[in-house]
Amino acid sequence: MDDGTWTNWVGNQSFSPREIVGVDSETDVQREVARASSSGHSIRTVGTGHSFTPIVETDVLLDTSPLRGIIEVDPRQLTVKAGPKTTIADFGDPLWEQGLALANQGDIDTQAIAGAIATATHGSGLKQPNFSAALEGARFVDGLGNLVEITRDSDPDVLHALQASIGLLGIMTEVTLKVVPAYDLHARIDIMKYDEVMERFESDLEEYRHFGLFWMPTEASATLYNLHDADADDCVVKRYREVEPGTSAGDLPEGERIDRSYRIYPMVYDPNFHEVEYFLPIEQTREILDGMRKLMLDWLPLSVYPLEIRVVAADDAWLSPNYQRDNLVVSISGEPGTDYWPYLRACDELFAEYGGRPHWGKIHFMTSERIAALFPRYQNFLEMRRRFDPNGTFLNQHLRSLFQ
Ligand SMILES: Cc1cc2nc3c(=O)[nH]c(=O)nc-3n(C[C@H](O)[C@H](O)[C@H](O)COP(=O)(O)OP(=O)(O)OC[C@H]3O[C@@H](n4cnc5c(N)ncnc54)[C@H](O)[C@@H]3O)c2cc1C
Repeated sequence: MDDGTWTNWVGNQSFSPREIVGVDSETDVQREVARASSSGHSIRTVGTGHSFTPIVETDVLLDTSPLRGIIEVDPRQLTVKAGPKTTIADFGDPLWEQGLALANQGDIDTQAIAGAIATATHGSGLKQPNFSAALEGARFVDGLGNLVEITRDSDPDVLHALQASIGLLGIMTEVTLKVVPAYDLHARIDIMKYDEVMERFESDLEEYRHFGLFWMPTEASATLYNLHDADADDCVVKRYREVEPGTSAGDLPEGERIDRSYRIYPMVYDPNFHEVEYFLPIEQTREILDGMRKLMLDWLPLSVYPLEIRVVAADDAWLSPNYQRDNLVVSISGEPGTDYWPYLRACDELFAEYGGRPHWGKIHFMTSERIAALFPRYQNFLEMRRRFDPNGTFLNQHLRSLFQ
């Protein structure tokens, strides 16, 4: 951000805000939002910039870095209260010390919790909903600079709108999340042929708390995501079973380990991929994946990145891609520097046939018409957005086209 230009983690989004304003407190956030709103400028904040879509871009960019850290852990209520800039990794040790853990995590743990909530960031497991679903309450500054405090009980509709709201209802200054008793994970990572994975798919989903895989279209694919020893048509399959905290690792075979849950989940990625992700009805897994596999082989070499496959449980957040639907989650990537758009559009067409809903932080091809058809509570969300942000202070060009 040295020359006044902000760029996201992967480098496919950048913009020059007219102002970058640091804030130290909730009151500062209120003052800055009110100032932007009355002067007709847009204002937004950023988590850690791990989204691939233009959902940070704004006139005034708020740097909320000081609003980071755990505020309160309540082991009886199974909740944790934290500042919006607290990273997912920051929750690990403090929760563990109180016998607690985040219910689920995704492939990395460096995102800010508010960023993860705002885009419905998820892990993988038949019974595991996303981060937005874990939101129990929040304090946020609305588009006029008013402080709003809600809980699931006091304002269920506002909560369901806020849960996955891409920053469109307000700047979150404090979040309360539901957590679970601490658990260890016994992780095994295997390389299997695609047909074998499909044969075991349903039983593995039932059996393992976390289940996800990467399918390789070519031999070169594995190295792109730091996955090793996999060839074309192989899958790298991650299956994690929940075990009691402190379970001895003993003599585990190669590729297996037991550790605290939050130490098992994160992987390491290089910023060398531009990712698309859609959520699709889990009942149609086999035909969707067979179709994707064929499509990717047809589109080689543009489709050289692995196909990541996960599952996420249904929730009630109005803009969550898992709204009242258990989903198969399919992620694909384009290689930076190549014209991957025709390939990504071909994938989008296939996802559209199955009612694919987008990940708000990853590349997608939505229009307001498509969102209205895919998200039953879209109109309710728009009403809520207008109620909390009547001047459209949190909208940018991309978001205006989808959520005006
Ligand atoms: C390497 C990598 C791995 C990933 N793995 C996964 C994964 O496993 N699962 C998954 O679902 N996604 C994954 N993602 C996507 C990522 O989790 C989401 O894009 C997430 O939003 C990024 O968090 P962030 O803190 O970087 O948010 P940002 O990208 O910085 O912001 C996201 C949105 O949140 C808004 N926001 C931030 N703070 C606030 C606040 N205080 N109040 C209101 N709005 C706010 C921003 O304005 C923006 O609209 C991955 C991305 C990368 C690059």
